[in-house]
Amino acid sequence: MKEITKKYSNGEVTIVWKPHMCIHSTICWKAATGLPAVFNPSERPWITPEGASTERIIEQVKKCPSGALSFVMNENEGESV
Ligand code: SF4
Repeated sequence: MKEITKKYSNGEVTIVWKPHMCIHSTICWKAATGLPAVFNPSERPWITPEGASTERIIEQVKKCPSGALSFVMNENEGESV
């Protein structure tokens, strides 16, 4: 089975989601522990990176227990140094 990687960018940070690694902990989207303005599994796409500040997104992504969520800063992507 092919492993899918999805990317969602707000122009500053790109949220990377690997569905096959998600253990559905609910941490990222439950109001008590997560960021429902960005992560909402009842919507498509389920990640809306415009819903919070880049700083807050990074903080949340780091709490994902499975490694399904990660991020890259856009300034580090595709630029020759
Ligand atoms: S925090 Fe990570 S493991 Fe938990 S539901 Fe979100 S993406 Fe999946």
